[in-house]
Amino acid sequence: MVSSYFSDARRLLCPLSLWAKRCPNSGEMTPVGGKRVKKGILERLNSGEVVIGDGSFVFTLEKRGYVKAGLWTPEAAVEYPEAVRQLHMEYLRAGSNVMQTFTFFAGKDNLESKWKDVNEAACDLAREVTEKGDALVAGGISQTSLYKNQKNKLEIKEIFQQQLEVFTRKNVDFLIAEYFEYCEEAVWAVEVLKESGKPVAATMCIGPEGDMHNLTPGECAVRLVKAGASIVGVNCHFDPTISLKTVKLMKEGLEAARLKAHLMTQPLAYHTPDCGKQGFIDLPEFPFGLEPRVATRWDIQKYAREAYNLGVRYIGGCCGFEPYHIRAIAEELAPERGFLPEASEKHGSWGSGLSMHTKPWIRARARREYWESLPLASGRPYCPSMTKPDAWGVTKGTTELMQQKEATTDQQLNELFHKQKFKSSIA
Ligand SMILES: [Zn+2]
Repeated sequence: MVSSYFSDARRLLCPLSLWAKRCPNSGEMTPVGGKRVKKGILERLNSGEVVIGDGSFVFTLEKRGYVKAGLWTPEAAVEYPEAVRQLHMEYLRAGSNVMQTFTFFAGKDNLESKWKDVNEAACDLAREVTEKGDALVAGGISQTSLYKNQKNKLEIKEIFQQQLEVFTRKNVDFLIAEYFEYCEEAVWAVEVLKESGKPVAATMCIGPEGDMHNLTPGECAVRLVKAGASIVGVNCHFDPTISLKTVKLMKEGLEAARLKAHLMTQPLAYHTPDCGKQGFIDLPEFPFGLEPRVATRWDIQKYAREAYNLGVRYIGGCCGFEPYHIRAIAEELAPERGFLPEASEKHGSWGSGLSMHTKPWIRARARREYWESLPLASGRPYCPSMTKPDAWGVTKGTTELMQQKEATTDQQLNELFHKQKFKSSIA
């Protein structure tokens, strides 16, 4: 059924340049002679459409040389707008329906005097790219650096308020509060974003064990929906399999509380079966040695199908998710969506492009069964399949978690190196 569908895939291609015309099989028509009004996020989700999110920004732009690892802040929106624009474009071609503003960790707490320019530039870039296709702009805020240490509600809400003021002025289509380890702070974010009257999505970077205060995923979802979020789920920190387990718990929590909300997942594209409660941050390979864990496009097709079967209709990715991973979501769900993304012009589904290869044993790989069942080798003979997460037992309020304004001194670093040696010798 599926393979015969894909053998006829060409006719389903929906190039961006044609998006405003009729997309084959999509059933959408453009009003003649006028500017097409895009359907809003809730209109799409309420009608059962699949909304494809975008992928990694800070991780991908760090690898491309435009973001500094450590604080992971998005100054590139101002410093290298062409790099940010290009990445948005690649996600759009791959099938994304949402351009999230590149505003991760972009509050005044992290960016100080630069916060406003960065937020404004990020809105302009996202809007510019959405105009080229069927995508919406989502203004994004994330957890602050203040909550862990001082939990000052007013100060934290003011940071969200400032970013929201820019998003409102730039008229983003909807809002996302993402990457929250603590439900309480996520609820504050939703409360602020709701004031705009625009739809609010909220995702936490938690696994099945729940938030850092031991609130279950189900309870987190309930609190976020009660605060005003219309879309809830998880992003970052865990792989697709674990993230879907978490969202299933959220779904069950909402059902038990008789609350309704749309579900959303934007997991890592790294396999993390060995992670603890805090996810991939604690893996010894974070952040510069994660490459052996990268999911293949086939892993991501499986994720897209499982997410869909679970009832998730906003499906995207976070760190490690490249445009080809997003294309894999769009290809897997093409039968439901009725069209393929523009980037599929250069990609035969399930390896079908290999049928043109000169070597016969490569041509023999031009089939779904081959790629679906292939056990992958890492090419690293002394590489363990799992590692042991660093778990120092430090939590909210610990001085070691205080974010410093200045760089860590050599002496402070030496103390940490010593502590790490000690911790791993007793582990
Ligand atoms: Zn992430």
